[in-house]
Amino acid sequence: MFPWQTSNWKNLTGSHLSKRLAHGLLFYGAAGIGKKAFAVEFAHWLLCEQPLADKACGKCKACQLIQAKSHPDLLNIYPEEEGKAIKVDQVRELIQKVSLTSHGQGYRVIIISPADALNINASNSLLKTLEEPPANTVLMLISDKPSKLMATIRSRTQMIRFELPEEEQSLQWLKHQNIDKAELLLKLSAGAPLAAATMAEIEALQIRDKLFNNWQELANADTDALESAAMWIKEGFKIVGNLPLNWVSSWILDILRILQGGHTESVLNMDYEQTLQNLAGQVDLKSIYGLLDRVNDTIRLSGTSANQQILVEGLLLHWAGLKRS
Ligand SMILES: [Zn+2]
Repeated sequence: MFPWQTSNWKNLTGSHLSKRLAHGLLFYGAAGIGKKAFAVEFAHWLLCEQPLADKACGKCKACQLIQAKSHPDLLNIYPEEEGKAIKVDQVRELIQKVSLTSHGQGYRVIIISPADALNINASNSLLKTLEEPPANTVLMLISDKPSKLMATIRSRTQMIRFELPEEEQSLQWLKHQNIDKAELLLKLSAGAPLAAATMAEIEALQIRDKLFNNWQELANADTDALESAAMWIKEGFKIVGNLPLNWVSSWILDILRILQGGHTESVLNMDYEQTLQNLAGQVDLKSIYGLLDRVNDTIRLSGTSANQQILVEGLLLHWAGLKRS
């Protein structure tokens, strides 16, 4: 487990040892802090024949089956396509499997991730299993948006909160992984260390630099907004998903902080501080609030079937057309 998860681990393994482990567990908390990895590790520990205090033994038959990804009592449910729903057929298939007796003597573990991807039919189907779980079966639901789960699902699970680690602990961990610019990456990831590590892995900072330079050129009317949008899609969104929208939102919030006379240490994009100061000098508070609304709308619409190209064009045109002094 990750160093910031030791108390979750102690509580859950303790519940198991005193035979109080709930049949339905909902692991929730911010994205990018390792909830899924924890669930997988805890599942291994439950299935292991000779578990140690803090991990599975790695040697027994169960552990070998897990390492070969062929343990029959460990079931994973996730969307067939990333970002899409978990369908009712997947849950039905699961229920059919768990209605058969488990293969080993011990537990059967089902991991559903992300649980907020369960659509209504799938949720209803799962509900019955949560109400009357077969013996020795543990369901682990994982979500960073637990409010999106059906209330009846939430009420039938034990909710286990995963806290955001302390900044110091996250930085230490990131540095231990030999990740450069850990502080900046962590800030841009809202304090979630695994999200920061993923950003490093996909070299997202280079993409961010490229987009920020373009953003700056747009402000100076040095480039065309529609051509820029095409570049953002091709070299940004296609590689790092919707991260650029979060970045734009953070640039605007930084400009707002500067306009409102905030201390420079409150600026999140510390590497862009000077440029952001200059940009803040050209715009007024009201138009920046208007732009912020626009970004929030774009973020909301980006989760729908709206055309991404049109959304990005609209956002960049708005920024380029902002009245400047
Ligand atoms: Zn083992």
